[in-house]
Amino acid sequence: MSAPLPPLAEHIARHGLAPRKSLGQHFLLDATLCARIAQIASPLEGRQVLEVGPGPGGLTRALLDSPAEHIVAVELDRRAIAGLEELSAARPGRLTIVEGDALRVDAEALMPAPRRIVANLPYNVGTPLLIGWLRQAHLFESMTLMFQQEVAERIVAAPDTEHYGRLAVLSQFRCQCRMAMRLPPGAFSPPPKVWSAIAHLVPHEQAPEPALMSSLERVTAAAFGQRRKMLRSSLKSLGGAEALLEQAGLDGTRRAETLQVAEFERLARLVLARG
Ligand code: SAM
Repeated sequence: MSAPLPPLAEHIARHGLAPRKSLGQHFLLDATLCARIAQIASPLEGRQVLEVGPGPGGLTRALLDSPAEHIVAVELDRRAIAGLEELSAARPGRLTIVEGDALRVDAEALMPAPRRIVANLPYNVGTPLLIGWLRQAHLFESMTLMFQQEVAERIVAAPDTEHYGRLAVLSQFRCQCRMAMRLPPGAFSPPPKVWSAIAHLVPHEQAPEPALMSSLERVTAAAFGQRRKMLRSSLKSLGGAEALLEQAGLDGTRRAETLQVAEFERLARLVLARG
């Protein structure tokens, strides 16, 4: 039997964790919701879990109650570290705390495979964190990530829909993506201005060569940088846009938002082959 933990609200008061907007701190205090998030990430048996931004540790507790083998929690807010260390001591050998910026940590060096990511992300760095993980998606079995709902919509969006753009193409090129859960502002303390949502991403088995991902990043930046323009115009910055589109068998009068992920991949392969 593991030692009982103090109520989360008491933990927050004792460690002086008044939420800071600059750190995107909106805490999840409802243990049932945290357990549901851990469940979305299942199976966790024998897995190493990377949690970004554990804060007071509500989701961390749910992960400790799951069958995950080990949890590595990366937190930037120094005020939260002592409380997290207490949590780690209460569950010996299950939780490692890393104080630092998640944008700078090397997951491969921190923990062995198989790895999964589970996180209620700070909104201000959610998208750059995701792009970084997509570049090395082969390191992870899955990513269960809470964002502002609009960002989660942009990850799972289909072509020709309102939220389809660069984030959908890059995410779906590397992963199977689904919307797993939506949460109202009142689920958090303090409540954010907008709804939140969890996107669950499972990397495709075949990892593309890193250069192809970089090429896709270039192509999508050009195409969606001027999303209202026709491709023959928006892709000009890549050079030889007309020839490129012809080789890809794509009509240059189409707009970026109408292209399937596979069509973007075709363009990225051609740009890469051109060198
Ligand atoms: N996981 C907690 C929960 O669900 O209640 C807190 C989630 S809160 C939305 C985001 C957390 O990320 C905060 O604890 C914040 O301090 C932390 N954070 C913000 N920027 C970070 C960064 N660059 N690296 C690591 N943690 C960060």
